[in-house]
Amino acid sequence: MNPHDNAIKQLEQVAQLLTQQYQDEPRFSSIIDQLKKPQQFHQTELAVKLDNGKTKKFAAYRAQHNNARGPYKGGIRFHPQVTVEEVKALATWMTWKCAVTGIPYGGGKGGIVVDPSQLSQTELERLSRAYARWLAAEIGPWQDVPAPDVNTNSQIMAWMVDEYQQVGQSVSENPLATFTGKPLALGGSQGREEATGLGGVFVLEKLVKKLGYKRKKDVTIAIQGFGNVGYWFAKHADQLGYKVVAVSDSKGGVYVPTGLDPVKTLQCKQNKGKVSDCRCSRDHCDLENGQAVSNQQLLELEVDILVPAALENVITKTNAAKIKAKAILELANGPVTPEADQILAKQEVVLIPDVLANAGGVTTSYFEWVQNLQGYYWSRDEVVSKLKPLMEQAFETMWELKDKHQVDGRLATYMSAVQRVVDAMLLRGWS
Ligand code: NAD
Repeated sequence: MNPHDNAIKQLEQVAQLLTQQYQDEPRFSSIIDQLKKPQQFHQTELAVKLDNGKTKKFAAYRAQHNNARGPYKGGIRFHPQVTVEEVKALATWMTWKCAVTGIPYGGGKGGIVVDPSQLSQTELERLSRAYARWLAAEIGPWQDVPAPDVNTNSQIMAWMVDEYQQVGQSVSENPLATFTGKPLALGGSQGREEATGLGGVFVLEKLVKKLGYKRKKDVTIAIQGFGNVGYWFAKHADQLGYKVVAVSDSKGGVYVPTGLDPVKTLQCKQNKGKVSDCRCSRDHCDLENGQAVSNQQLLELEVDILVPAALENVITKTNAAKIKAKAILELANGPVTPEADQILAKQEVVLIPDVLANAGGVTTSYFEWVQNLQGYYWSRDEVVSKLKPLMEQAFETMWELKDKHQVDGRLATYMSAVQRVVDAMLLRGWS
């Protein structure tokens, strides 16, 4: 099934649960139909000059799914496997993700079909600028606010801001507020780097209480992925007293049953190149401290909380029955397939979905936008103090709906998100 069909299927499932709350059934159905496709879809071929003087064309897209709750918001992905259907699906999921924490945005997503590792820095800059130039009339602080995604970063946002400012002066007076995920020196926000992992830890704190654990040190955690999200999640969880026992990267993982030190593990990985050579306890790194595990073994460890923080589709119908964790906190986007969802539900594994668990990232992007709009910047602590209540409230709303309707965490989260978007559309008189 293609990802957009998947997004539509999820929406239909949620609509069935929500329908009795809306008296005007034809209007509700018409709103749901509108949500099955983006309001606007832009596509082009960008012609970019390569360093060898030749010109190459790259397919480029931007989906603007829904703006009932505010401007479209979502990243720009550079990847050879970007497709129209994927961009549409990701834009739809952004609409739900923004609604989950209540930030005033709709959903959008962009992409370019390219393998950026095959481009030089100057070619990458020309491609990024070409994308911003092409899209300039369609984006802006009150229209559509892009951000980084897979294979794009703060430098790419900086080039795009600059290009947008050059072509778009009549369109917007605030180029900084048109992109988020910018470098700190160019209007970025304190706290953004750690925000997704830290937001996940705020959710973890709530979850652990609901599951009835008394002491944090009794809660064992395995994390797949030790990049931006996995590392910051591990570091903050460890600081609060949870026992992080396993982490991995693309080359494999480590299992340290007594608990590993995330900061020492990162230093060791930077020296040795891979995390599987780093078994670091609080005192020192020593291979005697634990054992190497494959990424597959890590997922199947006997732990309390499993945190996929690397790739999509890692828990599937093939391995779902082997998961022993009591709960899964999805920090990666889409790590559990729909078939695996059903198996996990039967096993009573509590699932906290990506659109809630990793929403700390987009929520802090919203804070970046607010700071850019007011031209007044906050400290890291101020950012964190604003993030925490939004994540906690989103979790509580999900948990209440989960209990009330006896559904899993994913469906409960979608119910709250879709309801907010439908209500905004009804209030606007869209039908
Ligand atoms: P990253 O590139 O910093 O880190 C990715 C990690 O995954 C690395 O440790 C890498 O070695 C590991 N990895 C790669 N291939 C792997 C494999 N085959 N098996 C196991 N591990 C593998 O990326 P990130 O920013 O940490 O993002 C991780 C996930 O979180 C992605 O799904 C991303 O879409 C999602 N996400 C990120 C943010 C954010 O703010 N960075 C926000 C929301 C969602």
